[in-house]
Amino acid sequence: MIARDYLLKAMDKDKQIRVTIAHSTALVEEAHRRHNTSATASAALGRVLTAALIMGSDLKNEKDALTLRVNGDGIAGPIVASVDSVGHGRAFISNPAADLPSLYPGKLAVGELVGRGGYLEVIKDTGLKQPFVGRVNLVSGEIAEDLSSYFLLSEQVPSLVALGVLVDTDLSIKAAGGLIIQAMPGADDMVLEKIENNVLQMESISDVISRSQDLESVLAVIMGDIAYDVIAERPLDFKCTCGRERLAAILANLSREELAETIEQTGKLEVSCNFCGEVYQFSGQEIMEKKQKP
Ligand SMILES: [Zn+2]
Repeated sequence: MIARDYLLKAMDKDKQIRVTIAHSTALVEEAHRRHNTSATASAALGRVLTAALIMGSDLKNEKDALTLRVNGDGIAGPIVASVDSVGHGRAFISNPAADLPSLYPGKLAVGELVGRGGYLEVIKDTGLKQPFVGRVNLVSGEIAEDLSSYFLLSEQVPSLVALGVLVDTDLSIKAAGGLIIQAMPGADDMVLEKIENNVLQMESISDVISRSQDLESVLAVIMGDIAYDVIAERPLDFKCTCGRERLAAILANLSREELAETIEQTGKLEVSCNFCGEVYQFSGQEIMEKKQKP
């Protein structure tokens, strides 16, 4: 068992291949707890969140942000993860209670829950006027394959993606993690093949992670006899960017009529954050005072 959530990024000495590996069990457990997800929904949500955190580690500037959206035609509905460049992530699944029976023993029906029709979208906000948006059709709804297709078609980077979430019988998260291996332009096919073979000989990434003490040892198995350097190491945390002030400002944008109607119907003003499920309550007076400020 690995004690904490973190990621490691490594590169071979010839700078041909980049490997990023993440352990995210506590994060996915928190996402599960906050959204009360079914077993299969936890796996789908955890895979998307873990992938987004790995991708976020390639953002250049501190204020950059990345959103990974999976809009499948399955009963899960859209799944969205949003991460920053320093290892904070948050995510939601539109239908957290949705679940399906496993088709194979020990394998949750993530592809069926997400759906095979639909698209995967990556939005990178790097402070430019227009954010970068890349979109590909889903391949299998299993997330890893869909992402690999995204990297190839949208970013022209051949990649190997593995994502996994092990859910316990009490629905808690036993292990979660992922790995993205990418070939740099002009990389030697032999090196990539070697690394791919090492990965293919391992058990599933969630099994490997559940049995390892740290990511360093997993990385050593993946790299085999290829010399490499660890180029980044950072903790990962579930952290939302919502807050009282931010949600009060959204409420203050509603018209007086809309606000009055809500207060009349429910007796209060209450907003919950999609990403983390946190509920914020406001008095009508509090919001009206905000409206008066320029
Ligand atoms: Zn939130």
